Amino acid sequence: MDLDDTPEQAAYRAQARSWLEEHKPEAPVLNGPGALEDEDQILAARRAWQGKLAEAGLAGVTWPKEYGGQGLGPIEQVLCNQEIARAKVPGILDTIGVGMLGPTIIAHGSEEQKTRYLGAMLHGDEVWCQLFSEPAAGSDLAAVQTRARREEDGSWRLSGQKVWTTNAQFASYGLLLARTDADVPKHKGLTMFVVPMDAEGVTIRGLRQISGEAEFNEVFFDDVAIDADAVVGGVGNGWGTGLTTLMFERVTIGLGGEGMGYNSTRFAAAIAGDEHARRDPEVRHQLGEISSELLAVRFTGYRTLTALQKGQIPGPEAGLAKVTIVSGAIKAGDLIADVLGPDTLLEDNEWSYMISFLPGLKSAGGTEEILRNTIGERVLGLPPEPRLDKGIPFSELRSKEKAAV
Ligand SMILES: Cc1cc2nc3c(=O)[nH]c(=O)nc-3n(C[C@H](O)[C@H](O)[C@H](O)COP(=O)(O)OP(=O)(O)OC[C@H]3O[C@@H](n4cnc5c(N)ncnc54)[C@H](O)[C@@H]3O)c2cc1C
Repeated sequence: MDLDDTPEQAAYRAQARSWLEEHKPEAPVLNGPGALEDEDQILAARRAWQGKLAEAGLAGVTWPKEYGGQGLGPIEQVLCNQEIARAKVPGILDTIGVGMLGPTIIAHGSEEQKTRYLGAMLHGDEVWCQLFSEPAAGSDLAAVQTRARREEDGSWRLSGQKVWTTNAQFASYGLLLARTDADVPKHKGLTMFVVPMDAEGVTIRGLRQISGEAEFNEVFFDDVAIDADAVVGGVGNGWGTGLTTLMFERVTIGLGGEGMGYNSTRFAAAIAGDEHARRDPEVRHQLGEISSELLAVRFTGYRTLTALQKGQIPGPEAGLAKVTIVSGAIKAGDLIADVLGPDTLLEDNEWSYMISFLPGLKSAGGTEEILRNTIGERVLGLPPEPRLDKGIPFSELRSKEKAAV
């Protein structure tokens, strides 16, 4: 995104750029010559780099100053992301924590939770993971079955399973959505908890992806003891607390697409390297279509940014940016694969990684079908899908749903 910077924003950009130029040699090298190979070394280097970015005011840009942030707006966050991309250095390691879970704790957490967790999260000393999805609760997140049972002394016992938990393998804490009351409708009986990932009874198993990496995990909870003060946002308010996280997730993916390199200039450069493709009218036509979609996302991004800068919460239309950027990048990946040929995908390079990673991004942060449903119902005013679960206690749901089939 190119923004017309105000004088203040131009000064912020210049400050970020000069710090990055000076400190670039300290950044971990993750690709190409001299790249770190050992996973533990990469992790340690990325945590240390996140700490330096935080010290320099280039992490948690929108967080309040009292919790270590800069107290600036989302436009400055985008400027910061642009400068990090321009400097060709890695961004922060814990984008889930700093981008989504930290803001949820800032919005709903107690003062003790904010003081205890936010500083260590921002500096990369404690990485966080998002423990929301389960084998039978992804799109229908309110169907979570992981149970938290309150003990007489006010503490909790947690049992169940989560899945697709990114970064759980090295996280210190997770923000977990659990069912605390099965006798009320499914959106009402949920509560959000902070869970220490090294607690007794927590088991983490890695899941390997098609891209070869194992970034996410299955996490099992076997009668895990949780303190009373681990509740975030109040007992029974887990759905509202979780929606805050999901809103930040969609905005992070939708606005962060260009930062991830999903932009038409980069795609065009890959294709322009091939003599024939450069002149082929069909290739040019397809690239033109992809570029116009990505341009539309850029302007949608401006609208979301303006709403955020004015302190408004972006509506369901923010999901459109995520749908469009991911589908545009998938089409670009297919075109690049056609132009560069199948051998490209056998090599370990930026395009083979992007092409194998993107189908996963279609699901992460809400699937395309669900986001389109939401846009249809809540933006375009189309009739809602029939819902069998409205007003029915969670404990009775399964029998009613089965009876209706
Ligand atoms: C890369 C990646 C990282 C992730 N990281 C995390 C993480 O850190 N923490 C976490 O909690 N989760 C994480 N997830 C999980 C993610 O949130 C879920 O994959 C997502 O919510 C979809 O749920 P599901 O996979 O269970 O699919 P399902 O909900 O089972 O959906 C399967 C298919 O059915 C379609 N479908 C379902 N319901 C409807 C409907 N009503 N109408 C039309 N179509 C429908 C879906 O669109 C989809 O195509 C991650 C996922 C990915 C891919």
